[in-house]
Amino acid sequence: MEKHVVVIGAGPAGLETSASLAKLGFHVTVVEKEEVTGGHLKKWHALFPNLLSGKDALESITKGLDSTIKIQTATRVTGLEAVNDYFTISGHNGWQEKADAVVLTTGFQLFDSHRKEEYGYGIYENVITSADLEELFASEKEFLNRHGNKPERIGFVHCVGSRDEKVNNLHCSKVCCITAVKQAIEVKQLLPDAEVFCFYMDLRMFGRHYEELYKEAQEKYNIQFIRGRLSESTEDKEGNIVVKVEDTLLGKPLRIKVGLLVLMAGMEPAAGTKALTNMLGLKNVSDGFIQPLDEVLRTNNTEIPGVFVAGTCTGPKSVSDTLADARSAALAVADYLKS
Ligand code: SF4
Repeated sequence: MEKHVVVIGAGPAGLETSASLAKLGFHVTVVEKEEVTGGHLKKWHALFPNLLSGKDALESITKGLDSTIKIQTATRVTGLEAVNDYFTISGHNGWQEKADAVVLTTGFQLFDSHRKEEYGYGIYENVITSADLEELFASEKEFLNRHGNKPERIGFVHCVGSRDEKVNNLHCSKVCCITAVKQAIEVKQLLPDAEVFCFYMDLRMFGRHYEELYKEAQEKYNIQFIRGRLSESTEDKEGNIVVKVEDTLLGKPLRIKVGLLVLMAGMEPAAGTKALTNMLGLKNVSDGFIQPLDEVLRTNNTEIPGVFVAGTCTGPKSVSDTLADARSAALAVADYLKS
C-alpha cells in the first residue's frame, strides 16, 4: 500500500523534503499557508558564500519536485491529530488529508526590528534591515536610486534580536555574521568609495570559506570591523544616522555618522509553530524552536513516532544546512514507514 506523507511548510526545507520523499516512492502532499511556495528564499537576492542567486537556488530546488507531489497553498493548518496509526491534518479552508507520517518544516521568521526601538527602525528612513537590503539589491538601479546622494558611510549592526536577553532571545542566529560580510562586500562593489563598518560582538564564521570571505572583506574591500554593541542611533538634520557604540577593544566610546544603517535581524521560530506543536503535545524548548528527539543522534525525529522535523523550525540554519537536513528528514521518514 502506498504510504502518504504530509509536509507542513513549503520553504526550502519543505520542498526538498517533499522531493526526496517522492524519489523514495512515497505519496506526498506539501501544505503551505502562503499563496506561493519558496519561503524567505524567494525574497533573497544572493546567498553566501558564493553569491548564488536566491532565484536560481529556488529554481533548482523546485526542479527536483516530482509531478506526483500535491502542493496545497493558501492553507493554514488548524488541525493536526494522531488517530491510531495515522494522522489527520486539516486547514482553515476545509482542506483535510490523512497521512502515515507528518514532517514539520515551518521555518523561521525574522526578528521584528521595531522591537529594538533604540536603533530607529521604522522611525528613521535610513535605518533598514538585512532583508530590506536584499530586496534593494534585487535591482542595482533601485539601490543606487534610493541613495541618489550615494551614502559615503554605511554601517551594519550584528546580533539584532539575537543573543539579547532584553528581547528574550538568547540564541545566536548563526547566519547573520556571514550575511553581514556578504552584504558589506556587495555594498562596496556597488559603491567602491564608501566606507563600510560592521559593529559586532563576536564574529561567528562557522562554514567553509566563510573565514576567507571575512579576510577578503578586510583586505580587499577595506571593510572596518568594530567590536562593540550599539547603544543607540539618532538622526541628524541631513537624514544621516549617528550611532553611539563602545569600542570594546580600544575601550573608548565612538560616535559615527552613517548614511545608511543596516540591522542584521536574527531568526525566530515562525509564528504558528507553537500552535502546531501544541496540537500534537510536542515540547518546544525555551527559545521556541522545536526540540528534536535527540540533538545529536535523532535530529529529525520527535518524541511522537511518525512526526518529523526539518529545517529552521529546530533552530537557525543556512540554506545549504537546511537542504541537507531536509534530505536527512526524508530518510528518517522512510526508515519509520518501511520498518
Ligand atoms: S551569527 Fe553573528 S550576528 Fe548573528 S547572532 Fe550570531 S554572533 Fe550575532
